[in-house]
Amino acid sequence: MVKICSFCKEPQKDGVKFLINDKKDAYLCEQCVDMAYEFIHGGENKDVDISNLDNESIKHITPKELKDVLDSYVVGQDRAKKAFSVGVYNHYKRIFKQNDVKDDTEISKSNILFIGPTGSGKTLMAQTLARYLDIPIAICDATSLTEAGYVGEDVENILTKLLQAADGDIKKAEQGIVFVDELDKISRMSENRSITRDVSGEGVQQALLKIIEGSVVNIPPKGGRKHPNQEFIQIDTTNILFVCGGAFDGLNEIINRRIGKNVLGFNQDKRTKKENSNLTHLVESDDLVHYGIIPELLGRLHIIATLDELDKEDMVRILTEPKNAILKQYEKIFAIDGAKLKVDEEALLEVASLAIKRKTGARGLRSIMEEIMLDIMFDLPELKGYDVVITKDVVDGKEKPILIKQDILSE
Ligand code: ADP
Repeated sequence: MVKICSFCKEPQKDGVKFLINDKKDAYLCEQCVDMAYEFIHGGENKDVDISNLDNESIKHITPKELKDVLDSYVVGQDRAKKAFSVGVYNHYKRIFKQNDVKDDTEISKSNILFIGPTGSGKTLMAQTLARYLDIPIAICDATSLTEAGYVGEDVENILTKLLQAADGDIKKAEQGIVFVDELDKISRMSENRSITRDVSGEGVQQALLKIIEGSVVNIPPKGGRKHPNQEFIQIDTTNILFVCGGAFDGLNEIINRRIGKNVLGFNQDKRTKKENSNLTHLVESDDLVHYGIIPELLGRLHIIATLDELDKEDMVRILTEPKNAILKQYEKIFAIDGAKLKVDEEALLEVASLAIKRKTGARGLRSIMEEIMLDIMFDLPELKGYDVVITKDVVDGKEKPILIKQDILSE
């Protein structure tokens, strides 16, 4: 795992020394130590704010580094992680380095569309990089948005949310990320239409297009409806990165129809089982137009990244591997009370199966674990010095967790 300076947020480069406090996850790079020395001994007798030196951490990122960060939090989804890393890298290169090469070429904005089942990591990816790069992020649901004049949220309110996430700092908000989830639900094919909205959801797509395109938008500072005697704040959306997400159920059939049966057979033996059941990664813009996304909006979503449905093994890895994996969190809670949690492999697989049955992707894992752990968490303060073993039968509610006194084990 790359070490990141807690002060300047720069990742450790070869040959740069770091002052490390591993227990607190705190790091200080050589340059910041130098700067601190200068600050203490330089004779300046007031606080110095270095944040206006521009976000240096963003300036020096590489796609590989972003992918490494995603790898520590997001299981699987390799293709999407790579596409997203490149997208984010290009986006910030465009903002900060466009003028490093002097010519007339203007790099256009590369917004991103994630296509993947619910709970497969779309929002998690956007959140992970926003946190790493220390940029504000606003997450909203396309189904709650309406065209101006209809009942619901105005599209501009997304920007109000972003401004709030940036603590009111307009400049910061103007370089942030907006994540619009459930884009598929405002398509023509969607059945999830609201009677308060225009029939096709196209009006909302048009409204979204306007802010994604890059324009100066008047937003009500506190959100809510616009009204005439209100003061507005102007937000320029040119450098805001828009990430849209959706499950796009039924898209496979559209792709299937386009590529036809022959192509389906082509290279079939080379494809993995997962890929065979999921044609989504062959998606092209036209398929999405068929699905009911307006071509103008698709024209603004340059990068299309697809995510796979998570299988049982992925779910087990999600429980155990990421930096703040659910199981690691429980183990810590147990350790604080002097107990040790042991969840056996079969139990983990059973939790994964239950999550798959719920059809909410990895989102179901936490609530399933909470249900299983509730009683034992209640008794936890009295379990100091015990190993608590969770088996498949415990997960299925057939048995209580097995308690083993630790000193018996060591005898
Ligand atoms: P969606 O794809 O619907 O946007 P999210 O990214 O919000 O789903 O996922 C919901 C939760 O499930 C996340 O907060 C995370 O805990 C977990 N999760 C989903 N996919 C993954 C993944 N690929 N790796 C690790 N955790 C995941």
